[in-house]
Amino acid sequence: MAKKITKKSAAKSKPKAAGKSSKYVYFFGSGKADGNGSQKALLGGKGANLHEMTRIGLPVPPGFTVTTELCTYYYDNKKSYPKVLAEQVNTALAKLEAATGKKFGDREDPLLVSVRSGARESMPGMMDTILNLGLNDETVEVLAAKSGNPRWAYDCYRRFVQMYGDVVMGVQKVGRDDHEPFDEVMDELKHKVGVTEDTDLTADHLKELVSRFNDLIKKRTGKAFPQKPIDQLWGAMGAVFGSWMNDRAIVYRRKYHIPHEWGTAVNVQTMVFGNLGDTSATGVAFTRDPASGEKVFYGEYLINAQGEDVVAGTRTPQPIAKLAQDMPKAHAELVQVCKTLETRFKDMQDFEFTIEDNKLYMLQTRNGKRTGLAAIRIAVEMVEEKVIDWKEAVGRVPADSLTQVLAPIFDRKDRDDAVKNGRLLCKGLPAGPGAASGHVVFNAEDAVERAGKGERVLLCRVETSPEDLRGMIAAEGILTARGGVSSHAALVARQMGKICVCGAQEIVVDYGARVMKVAGRTIKEGDFISIDGTLGEVYEGELKTAPSEVVQVLVAKTLDGKTSRTYQQFDKLMKWCDKIRRLGIRTNADQPDQAANAIAFGAAGIGLCRTEHMFFEGDRIYAMREMIIAETKEAREEALRKLLPLQRDDFAGIFRAMKGYPVTIRTLDPPLHEFLPQTEEAQRETAAQLGITTEKIAARVAALHEANPMLGHRGCRLGITYPEITEMQTRAILEAAIQVRKEGIPVKPEIMIVLIGFPKELQNQLEIVHRTAKQVMAEKKTKIGYMVGTMIEIPRGALCADEIAKDAEFFSFGTNDLTQTTLGMSRDDSGTFLPHYQELEIVKRNPFEAIDQDGVGQLMKIGIEKGRKTRPDIKLGICGEHGGEPSSVEFCHRVGLTYVSCSPFRVPVARLAAAQAVLKEEKAGKSREIS
Ligand code: PEP
Ligand code: MG
Repeated sequence: MAKKITKKSAAKSKPKAAGKSSKYVYFFGSGKADGNGSQKALLGGKGANLHEMTRIGLPVPPGFTVTTELCTYYYDNKKSYPKVLAEQVNTALAKLEAATGKKFGDREDPLLVSVRSGARESMPGMMDTILNLGLNDETVEVLAAKSGNPRWAYDCYRRFVQMYGDVVMGVQKVGRDDHEPFDEVMDELKHKVGVTEDTDLTADHLKELVSRFNDLIKKRTGKAFPQKPIDQLWGAMGAVFGSWMNDRAIVYRRKYHIPHEWGTAVNVQTMVFGNLGDTSATGVAFTRDPASGEKVFYGEYLINAQGEDVVAGTRTPQPIAKLAQDMPKAHAELVQVCKTLETRFKDMQDFEFTIEDNKLYMLQTRNGKRTGLAAIRIAVEMVEEKVIDWKEAVGRVPADSLTQVLAPIFDRKDRDDAVKNGRLLCKGLPAGPGAASGHVVFNAEDAVERAGKGERVLLCRVETSPEDLRGMIAAEGILTARGGVSSHAALVARQMGKICVCGAQEIVVDYGARVMKVAGRTIKEGDFISIDGTLGEVYEGELKTAPSEVVQVLVAKTLDGKTSRTYQQFDKLMKWCDKIRRLGIRTNADQPDQAANAIAFGAAGIGLCRTEHMFFEGDRIYAMREMIIAETKEAREEALRKLLPLQRDDFAGIFRAMKGYPVTIRTLDPPLHEFLPQTEEAQRETAAQLGITTEKIAARVAALHEANPMLGHRGCRLGITYPEITEMQTRAILEAAIQVRKEGIPVKPEIMIVLIGFPKELQNQLEIVHRTAKQVMAEKKTKIGYMVGTMIEIPRGALCADEIAKDAEFFSFGTNDLTQTTLGMSRDDSGTFLPHYQELEIVKRNPFEAIDQDGVGQLMKIGIEKGRKTRPDIKLGICGEHGGEPSSVEFCHRVGLTYVSCSPFRVPVARLAAAQAVLKEEKAGKSREIS
């Protein structure tokens, strides 16, 4: 889908080279490697680290990596390979055979390999993997004889045929409710021979199973399962490259903004076996706890199992600490490996290992995914351990992940009551911290459907698989009955910041009946449950939530910061950010409590106070309606006089809360009809309140109706046609400022005229503001400083910014409106087609979420340049929703804004993103110096 490069280049006669180099295959083994850890772009993350681990002497089974450039070539050239590839693969294979002393298809000692994908950034479970490649009807017998364990040999073979049949030959389930076809065949056989567990199948049963699998493949594809290992290898490589473009990988890349152009590498590696008996095992481990960040060796393993058993959640693994009893030597070696890995990679590592007959092998390592909480703890503690410096720590915490640290937890009392009342249903593993409640759904499609209707849902599955990704994105939280802390559900939830409890084994899910049974109760689809991803608990019904520790310290002030490590580390990180960031951070707040929260989170000013929100509180809407219904200027002024003290009090409250920080107050923006009652009943009620007829109200509603209200009578257009509104608001702002200053609190009012496209619009409003200000000051016999500026939120405003800056002392980019007017897309209605646009990559990100840098961004640049030309010291901000989105914050830094303004809870995100923008710039500067 990406780029549709195939079509374009198909027309060309010559194959298109992907990169400069024609070396597509890199070998590693026996302590030497062609590549190294810095080559992630070329070798993929997994490949580069396999090469690096080989170099630093860790026990890595030998193998070779086929580069990401080959993947690009493959898609650029109608899914074909360059001629040189076959020779390079053959050379690497020969080296591999020499390094291992084994041979492909050999009757004495056959070489078996795994074939795995490995993109630049890890995409857990999204692409395909094939294990035990090289087995066929002959080699399986050799393996059986050599190992003296025919059951094991045939188990490997049946797994391989199953995986190959599925991934390479496409034998998969067809309908949503189908069973996996290979599982069905296996279940049939188990039924026939009268066993329930896979492990009860004998070698002969497994042999029979292979034969049944072969029949299934033949029946479904018309082709036979290939017996020649080299054919198997080419088939598998093609499938892995092909899986780069499968639906779930595309969805994943879209979510994490991974470019399709990157492509994946393929790693072919000698197989080692964790399922060779009780002296063998396989596991996944982390050098620190990925959920809490604590420095403990963390992970899990299964004795006598292969890698996918741990991740797939089909058997619940043992915690790694137990390995010290089961296999003390391997455990001790692994503890040493943790140190070696952290010393080399200087970050928490997530690694896979296999123990084959008591010998440890490392199969993979990568920087471990972690929760927001863990990200902060690991970064801060690594600075304390002198592994990294504080700037590196700032770069380590994904800015968005801070939202998780501010996420709610269940109210303690409510939770204790639930336990007392027997509503604690069961416990599972805490896999994604936070608290979530929602309606139970049992499949991803239903999750997407219900969430689309605005329902909160919890996705409950026996276990999740990559096909569930869309549902997982849509759900508030995820609950699984099977699987450990490194199961698919846990990995994905952790990365998404989703709340997750996994491996809640007491739950019995019945997909057919759409119910789950637990603790003697039957929970139906649509019932409400709550999950605590920090404690791993599942409750019946809805539980009240309480703020996170950081919020308890900063906002609710119910917790002493000194007693909360989370808060201490958060605070440290924020202080580091403030040392380097150049962007100011303000907040969008309309009420004193919101303003106070934002200050607690580190905001230094209000970038947008939307005055209209104040008119909806309590009874004041009636005064507003009276003003709108008024037929004469006098009647309007009369109504405005009622609104004046209310507004003045609001502004005074905000000035007090902001303690001398600048406060940008915007003049009335929305079209007036938004304030009028729309239903007949509400119109009757308002008529009674105002002492007028319902007909009169209905007539006014009809008169104010607009076909395109967003492009209608709104913004400064209101103040121009009804100057008395601007007069009243200016008076309320300045009277409040004078009053608060009298109380000894400094004030910095900034009046922002909204929706300016023409310089004359601003001049018109300025005349009113200054005239009113003069009057107020004369009446109060005092002087007060204030600034007047404008929002730039329609393209004409940006294009004529030089003229507008003659009168405006500051600009604030209203990127919500600027996006909708630049793109001609309604910010309210684009939900009907934007997801499709993203799917087709017409737009990479939702432009209302992340600034469209090429389009809207260009207008901003024009506005900045022209504004500065006229007024070099002009203050420049942004107050659209983008002000709290990391990539947009970085853009704002690059184009030289003075500040970003965002909602209070995104202030920490913006602080971190602003600091990271500086780090990125420094890094780019350094690399420019080097080149
Ligand atoms: C904007 O348009 O970006 C803005 C901040 O104003 P509003 O969202 O109130 O239209
Ligand atoms: Mg706007």
